[in-house]
Amino acid sequence: MMSKQRIRLALALTTAGALSMALLTPGAAGADTVRPECPRGLDCDWVPAAYQQTGDPADKDTYGNYDTANRPDTNAIEFIVLHDTEEDFDSTLKIFQDPTRQTSAHYVVRSADGHVTQMVKNKDVAWQAGNWYLNSHSIGIEQEGVATEGATWYTPEMYRSTARLARHLAAKYDIPLDRQHILGHDGVPPTSAEGTQNMHWDPGPYWDWNRFMALLGRPTEPSAPNSSELVTVSADFTKNQQDFRDCEKDVDLPRQASSAVPLHTGPSSDAPLFSDPGLHPDGSPGTNCVADWGSKISATQQAVVADRAPGWTAIWWYGDKAWFRTPAGTRVVTPTSGRVVRPKAGKEEVPVYGVAYPEKSEYPTDFDRPTVGSPLVYTIKAGQAFPGGGEAPNGYYYAPTIDASKPYDHTYFRGNQTYVTVQIGHRIGFVKTSDVDVVRAGS
Ligand SMILES: [Zn+2]
Repeated sequence: MMSKQRIRLALALTTAGALSMALLTPGAAGADTVRPECPRGLDCDWVPAAYQQTGDPADKDTYGNYDTANRPDTNAIEFIVLHDTEEDFDSTLKIFQDPTRQTSAHYVVRSADGHVTQMVKNKDVAWQAGNWYLNSHSIGIEQEGVATEGATWYTPEMYRSTARLARHLAAKYDIPLDRQHILGHDGVPPTSAEGTQNMHWDPGPYWDWNRFMALLGRPTEPSAPNSSELVTVSADFTKNQQDFRDCEKDVDLPRQASSAVPLHTGPSSDAPLFSDPGLHPDGSPGTNCVADWGSKISATQQAVVADRAPGWTAIWWYGDKAWFRTPAGTRVVTPTSGRVVRPKAGKEEVPVYGVAYPEKSEYPTDFDRPTVGSPLVYTIKAGQAFPGGGEAPNGYYYAPTIDASKPYDHTYFRGNQTYVTVQIGHRIGFVKTSDVDVVRAGS
């Protein structure tokens, strides 16, 4: 029988989309009396996700579809993760109510009218991000849709509802409204190098990030006219017409508006596309497959300028230079103020992690499941810089059973080492504060 951790890993193996009964407190009248955690005036209801065992009743390790917790008192809520369902709205609700499906999200947003259904309480940990550290520190929001059909599903009503909800949650839990904390599933790092190729990439290149961040009250505007070290990609969604390919189905997708800007290995459209070393361990060139996220930067993502050529800009990206077209007179990039992360003097190469867990020595000696981070395939090299610098909570939430029946079950173990979040490429990562300097861009 698979352990819960194994099942979670298996979940991450399905493709673009990811896809539940809350544990009622004794004395509650019934599920329908639970009030959804939504901003006032948002069309929002509560349909509980499954919280049930699915195997031998004596086996408390096998259950779905989420973990109880006491957030944010135990685990801080630091991130919001946006998804698309790859299923219609009603099917998604049924999946999250089926404990054998081993998946859930806190909220699901309907395409046609922006209706919101909450399925997991924000104090609890939904199984949504394919990364246990991110799960335990985030809220997941599913948009009804299919990533390769993007814009047909992502309606104005949906953008408005998701943005209202995200603003409300960010204010409540003090989540920064930037792209190192407001993530797509395509921004979530793998927990280990081996897991890189299994990570999901929803809501995909047809989600209009400019529009969404503007609705969050964070439109991309020039904020550093005298410094050009840090830029925010601000390619106009409608003008940024791109040809991508659904390589799982082996079909070209129609040329259409996109948030994604292709990255090349040199300042030329003929140069190969950027090869993400996590996705192309053999060094083969990047592709225009929608799932090849490492060859694309998304509007509203930030990067540090590494070089320039006429009509082209290079940025630091997964430890190397990546080039994209920035024709004169266009606003593909916007100079931005903010913090960047650089290796400390004397460090040639700094490891990047997909989690910020305690060291083994920081767990109690009688705890038999100490879980620590391992470096990803990406590093930050001397001379390079990446956006970021916000402190990431260091902690591991241990919740192996449905009823907290094991020693230390449902405990949040805190570590002392501080980590910061860094935009290492298309996905974020975490670096140890002891390895890096966090400085204002341009300084
Ligand atoms: Zn997802």
